[in-house]
Amino acid sequence: MKKLVLINPHPRGKHGEEDLRVIVQMPLNLAYIAAHTPRDRWEVDVIDETMDEAVDGDGRLCFDADLVGITSLTCQAPRAYQIARACRARGIPVVMGGPHAITHFHEAAEFVDAIVVGEAEGVWSGLLADFERNGLRKIYDGGFPELDYMRVWPDRELLQSKYQYKYSSIVTTKGCPWRCEFCSVPMVQGKTYRERSVEDVLDEMEATPFRGLMFAEDNFYGYKPESNERARQLFRGMVERGIHKDWFGFTQFSTAHDLAALKDMAVSGCLGFLIGMESTDEAVLRKLRKGSNLKTGVENYASAIDNIHDHGMIVWASVIFGADLQTKDCFRAMTDYLLEHAVDVVTFGVHCPFPNTALFQRMVQEKRLLRSNWPEDWIYYDSGHLTHTLSHMSLDEFIEGMEHVYKHLYGPENLRRRFIETLKRNGSRRTAMFAYKVGMDWDIVFQNVLKNLYALRESGMYQRVMRENNLAVAAA
Ligand code: SF4
Repeated sequence: MKKLVLINPHPRGKHGEEDLRVIVQMPLNLAYIAAHTPRDRWEVDVIDETMDEAVDGDGRLCFDADLVGITSLTCQAPRAYQIARACRARGIPVVMGGPHAITHFHEAAEFVDAIVVGEAEGVWSGLLADFERNGLRKIYDGGFPELDYMRVWPDRELLQSKYQYKYSSIVTTKGCPWRCEFCSVPMVQGKTYRERSVEDVLDEMEATPFRGLMFAEDNFYGYKPESNERARQLFRGMVERGIHKDWFGFTQFSTAHDLAALKDMAVSGCLGFLIGMESTDEAVLRKLRKGSNLKTGVENYASAIDNIHDHGMIVWASVIFGADLQTKDCFRAMTDYLLEHAVDVVTFGVHCPFPNTALFQRMVQEKRLLRSNWPEDWIYYDSGHLTHTLSHMSLDEFIEGMEHVYKHLYGPENLRRRFIETLKRNGSRRTAMFAYKVGMDWDIVFQNVLKNLYALRESGMYQRVMRENNLAVAAA
């Protein structure tokens, strides 16, 4: 029997979505790989570094294996390479997959023995067979196939027995046809929106003992009328089968204008949903190429928010700070908007040029990147650090703006006030409490983002890059 160890790397001291303890969840992609591994020949173990460590502080490997599989987001890549180095020093071959392996397979190939680009499940058993006969290839291309392969459900039990997660996730769709300038989803999941069979999703939901479920995709509602109809069937199916979960997911504003869908979502236990609001300024949205929001129209955000509240759910808005065209006034404008409409959870991303996106190419061309000592500097590409110079404000104005947002939305007093406001608007203690807990956790993430910004200012790096590349703040 050979031993496979699957690893979710986590850079030491990193703070981000993994700090949202209320929804802390298993790396589902590893649970899928475990499910596709033949157990008659392989023993499988998992190391989730958000709770554990694969390599200790002295660079020593904390486990033994015949083969190691590592998944990696871009910000995890330096840690993934550190683990790979320690494995290979012990003669253990390493396979890497996940978003960073897709966008940077030439770089990753230097650190590991095999790379999987695209989705791994379809090529996994072949890869293991190659390994068993000593013929591991350098690259395996899983592509972006139809989602029939997801009829093999993830092995949640394996991860749960080791780490006792409170929440799990489920994938019902993949891919995105939009072309937002900053987003890597079309690149790492494909530009075609792919959907699982509704019945199979419902069967999986029924079978999983987890009460808390996140829909781990970018838009569970879909982009076309037929996809919207499929989403309605899914929610209706949950109601008809009596599947009641504490669930939430990611979607777009148009979902909240579909009252039939909202009704069934609420009955099936939906706590609310996360919408990439990004900005309330249409010029900024155009610059971001955020087509889905422009299609809805900023003037229709408010009715969407009201509809969600009217169904007892919460609105979780994700906004972007640091995008081009945003001036120092954007922070006050956004804060006022969020308070006026009682948006229940507000999380944000510092505008980030993820590798190989259109935004990344443009930032390289305009010589605006602050961090380019790769692979080490990938750690900063996490939406919690500023990684490029700002077009329409100074670094000081950006930091003051972020402090304004923190001061008016976060901290115990504000969070308590916002909890009461949520309760007033949606009348649901259950979902209001969920929003409050997410807010408490994001408070910690926010404080760390501020620390990152102070460190950047103190380093003098920002001014140096501005000076060296003859950059200036554009007039508003
Ligand atoms: S931000 Fe959302 S809509 Fe835009 S490309 Fe990414 S997943 Fe698609």
